[in-house]
Amino acid sequence: MIDGVLSIHISDLQNCFIQGSIDVLGECACQPLHQWMGELAHHPVPMSLFLPRLREILSHACGEMGGAGAAVAIGREAFSWAVRNLGDNLEYDSVEFRMQPAQRRCSQGLESLCQMLESEGMGRVRVCESGNGWQVEFEDCPECRDGAAMNQGCRLVEGLIHGYMQWVDGGRFHPVHETRCREKSSGTCFFQIDKTAVE
Ligand SMILES: [Zn+2]
Repeated sequence: MIDGVLSIHISDLQNCFIQGSIDVLGECACQPLHQWMGELAHHPVPMSLFLPRLREILSHACGEMGGAGAAVAIGREAFSWAVRNLGDNLEYDSVEFRMQPAQRRCSQGLESLCQMLESEGMGRVRVCESGNGWQVEFEDCPECRDGAAMNQGCRLVEGLIHGYMQWVDGGRFHPVHETRCREKSSGTCFFQIDKTAVE
C-alpha cells in the first residue's frame, strides 16, 4: 500500500514530471530516467520517494546547481502536462473559471491546483492570500522529505507553481520563491508568489 492507494501505474502527476524531464533534458540525456520509469511501472512509489529520487537523478546528470536549475524548468513543463492530462481535476476549462476577473481567476486556479496536488499525494497544501501575493504552504513537502533537496530547496515544486502563474496570466512572469524550506521541527515548506508580474 502506498499512501493508502494500491496502484500498478505511475501516478498522473509523476507522469507529468517524467514527461517534463524528457522535455527539458532531451530523449538522449534520459537513459537513467527511462530505466527508472521501467522500475516504477512495477514498483510504484509515493511522491515522498519519487521527487527526491528525481532530484538525485538530476544532480547526477547536471551537478547540484545545474540539477536545481533543471528542476525549476522541469516543474514548469510538468505543469503544462498537468493542464493537458489532469484538466478534469483542475476545471480550468469551465466557462465560470475563464470569465472571472484576472485576479480572482489567479486565486481560484491556485486553489484548484493545490487540491489537485493534495489528491496526487503531495500532502496537505494550503493557500493564503496576503496584500501583494499568495503564500502556498506544503505541510509535509514530499520533495525535501529525505533531505536530498535541502541545500537547493524544493525546485520542482517551485517550478510547478511558476508554470501555473505564467499559464494563468497569459505568459507573464511572476516571481515565485521558496521562503522557508522544511521549517525547523516540521516538514513545512512555504512558497511566496508575487501578484505583480515582472515585465
Ligand atoms: Zn522545501
